[in-house]
Amino acid sequence: MKFPVLITFLLLLGMQTISAQSTILHCGSLIDGISNAPRHNVSVIINGNRISAIKEGFVNGTRNDKVIDLRQKTVTPGWIDMHVHLETEFNKTSYSDKYTMNPADYAYQSVVFAERTLQGGFTTVRDLGGSGVNIALRNAINKGLIKGPRVYTAGKAIATTGGHGDPTNGYRSDLMGNPGPEAGVVNGPDECRKAVRQAYKNGSDVIKITATGGVLSVAKDGSSPQFTDEELKALVATAKDYGLRVAAHAHGAEGIKRAIRAGVNSIEHGTYLDDEGIALAKQYGTWYVPTIIAGHSVSDSAKTPGYFPAIVQPKAATIGPKIQSTFAKAYKSGVKIAFGTDAGVYTHGKNWLEFTYMVEAGMPPMEVIQAATISAADLLGVKDKLGSIEAGKLADIVAVDGDPLRDIQVMSKVVFVMKDGVVYKDNNTAPATL
Ligand SMILES: [Zn+2]
Repeated sequence: MKFPVLITFLLLLGMQTISAQSTILHCGSLIDGISNAPRHNVSVIINGNRISAIKEGFVNGTRNDKVIDLRQKTVTPGWIDMHVHLETEFNKTSYSDKYTMNPADYAYQSVVFAERTLQGGFTTVRDLGGSGVNIALRNAINKGLIKGPRVYTAGKAIATTGGHGDPTNGYRSDLMGNPGPEAGVVNGPDECRKAVRQAYKNGSDVIKITATGGVLSVAKDGSSPQFTDEELKALVATAKDYGLRVAAHAHGAEGIKRAIRAGVNSIEHGTYLDDEGIALAKQYGTWYVPTIIAGHSVSDSAKTPGYFPAIVQPKAATIGPKIQSTFAKAYKSGVKIAFGTDAGVYTHGKNWLEFTYMVEAGMPPMEVIQAATISAADLLGVKDKLGSIEAGKLADIVAVDGDPLRDIQVMSKVVFVMKDGVVYKDNNTAPATL
């Protein structure tokens, strides 16, 4: 009887050795998402989809282990963009596309945008509104059918009749119809509750509301409040019951303040955030997601005659350029900032430019990287598993060619992307020297 026991033991031992195969990243410089200074010459050990250890020096591991040489690179946690729209990319024909494109057309293009986003170093995104195709996109990525970032999606945004997120704004009357809570259009607290419950049923991870007017909707006002206090309270309370957080698109000061008082988790854009709004955001612990790049992009496009409908152009020209200075003021005042870009309003894949605008506005590069890693994970409610390079966390890791603390432009030079322990990009083809 001794032999079979011994053989079984040896077989188990052998299986353990194989299953214990690690990926070892040799990191010249490591920004871990939580420390305020980089670490140098360390090894990050990954087993399966998790980080198992960070060790001083360049450790070799066993023959089975895979070593990736990032000794000349800067390694950071995977970046998190808290405000994207993966279904679309704004262009001159966007307003007529609604009449010509089917959900499948949006689905195919969203696959391209998702992969481009991941290749750009963003391993997690929060999709703040589309037609609902973004839910199917998330599911396909999670199943491993297509390549893309982890997606936390709002599905459709919730708006009031004629509000920024009403999908029928600008339609002629027979096409306009009377969309209700199922389509994310609400009036009164009861419909607010129904829309949140519908979003939950549809599979949304987060609730997005359009608390004020917005730039690109075919409607005159870009900043007035669009929900009553009672409606906002109903939205937030119902979302909390269902374990969903609330992101509020808001440009105007009054709508920002109403949303903060109602208990939303984040203010998106926040263009006309005033001193009272800043004090409230600090009091309530509300996050601010600036999307500076979207502001620059729409104000640039507004300079081209005829690019926007006549009703949109003045909003793009006035609101767009203000976001960067609002961000600068909010940062100096101590408002919590999470990185977000509104990708889709500008070209997907250029999300990294937001890093440069945040630095330009006075935020130190290390804090900008933390805004896109640990802070964003905090706002998402997943700080326990994402946002830093620490033992036990999911292995979402990127590397750039250069030192972003000296030159933030190197955030465009993404050479390595790992999500959930799987390598999606490795430009560093030179074999590692052990
Ligand atoms: Zn947006």
